[in-house]
Amino acid sequence: MENEFLPKIAMSIHAHPDDQEFTVAGTLAKWARLGCEVISVIITSGDSGSNDLQHGREYKSTLAVLREEEQRAANAVLGARETLFLRYPDGELEATVALRRDLTRLIRQYKPEAVVTGNLEAAFYGNEYINHPDHRAAAEAATYAVFPSAGTRLIFTDLLEAGYEPHNVKRLYIHGAEKSDTWIDISQDIQTKIEALRKHSSQLGDWDPEKMMREWAAEEGKEKEMAFAEAYKVMLLVKDEEQV
Ligand SMILES: [Zn+2]
Repeated sequence: MENEFLPKIAMSIHAHPDDQEFTVAGTLAKWARLGCEVISVIITSGDSGSNDLQHGREYKSTLAVLREEEQRAANAVLGARETLFLRYPDGELEATVALRRDLTRLIRQYKPEAVVTGNLEAAFYGNEYINHPDHRAAAEAATYAVFPSAGTRLIFTDLLEAGYEPHNVKRLYIHGAEKSDTWIDISQDIQTKIEALRKHSSQLGDWDPEKMMREWAAEEGKEKEMAFAEAYKVMLLVKDEEQV
């Protein structure tokens, strides 16, 4: 079955601390539990994630430190091997060539078989949520870092000269796609996902996310009769028999 694929190394790429926990953390927890090395890349440090009236610009660096700690704690719950922050400014992210180069470097360095990110096409979800532009920018930069940048020798020759050889990612997992084609059963991992999300207490406040997270995962699994799932569109970029 397609969804039984277990990468040896997986890289999760998201814009903010907590994005991963709201979306794909069940998959990452499952893969880590089964022996995959999970590398978690967070592009910003969430330094705009407060609307508290008592805080201004000077709070941003304090908040960034706090949110990095929360993300590290969440990743410890998930069993991720590494947490990497690129420290781009929260709320101002663009899918620039500089960002794509940074992600290409990490992909060439860690050589993941699978990359997990959001959907670069998703501008709106339903009638109530305008997708945060940082999420789209992160997804776009991650997607185009996977292809063509990571595997093409003469893109970013400065990386090549620094010793970062090309690497072909086998599969790109896109969460939040309009039409999913792959379902990861997270029935054993939903509680781990929720416990990881709870580590982002600066964002949750007194709100308990458990009910909503279970509802979302039940909804995503419904079509495949899974109690709890995360659904993806998966780009199959390297067939297993082609892998050297
Ligand atoms: Zn976010």
